[in-house]
Amino acid sequence: MNCKEALPLIHEYLDGDLQGSDSRLLKEHLIACQTCHALFKQLEKTDALVRMLPPVKASDTLTAQIMSGLPPMKQRNSWMDFIRRHPAASVAVVFGVVMFGSFMAMWNDDTSLMVKGSNLQDVIIQGDTVIVPQGHTVQGDLVVQRGTLKVEGDVTGNLTVIDGTLNLASTAHISGQVTQVNEALGWVWYKINEFVGMLSH
Ligand SMILES: [Zn+2]
Repeated sequence: MNCKEALPLIHEYLDGDLQGSDSRLLKEHLIACQTCHALFKQLEKTDALVRMLPPVKASDTLTAQIMSGLPPMKQRNSWMDFIRRHPAASVAVVFGVVMFGSFMAMWNDDTSLMVKGSNLQDVIIQGDTVIVPQGHTVQGDLVVQRGTLKVEGDVTGNLTVIDGTLNLASTAHISGQVTQVNEALGWVWYKINEFVGMLSH
């Protein structure tokens, strides 16, 4: 089994629909392939969190935050229902759109660092540290996951650090919003929020 064949099976597995020889083949691939294993662990964690989400309540701050970005009531409910009924599928869509969408992305397999941005040529990566050097400008948004982001130069878009550390030098200039997401649940909401943001644009 290759990675392309494994991905849909991972989602079937998380939805509880995977049986027999497919299940065995997937297990074999996950043991052999670090990339898919890491993705599986991430999806499994996300899937479990989405399943634990409380019922939609207006008083729920996080939910309200997400909802505020959404159109009419009826659509809101069916959208949340869809996520509740198909958590793995929803997460897959989020991953698909966010991770493999219109952005350039770079992964460092050793440290599982992820850097995402529309323009990465002015970014220096040393181990799990991502540096925007002084005098350099990153056009557009910059997202760093599981690493340290050190900004000495300019970023014209939004800056997001997920499960990492942000280090802003006095010379740094960020034109957009700076967001730090550290909790796993915050990360899920961040992904969903980002996904909804993309839908509404
Ligand atoms: Zn694989």
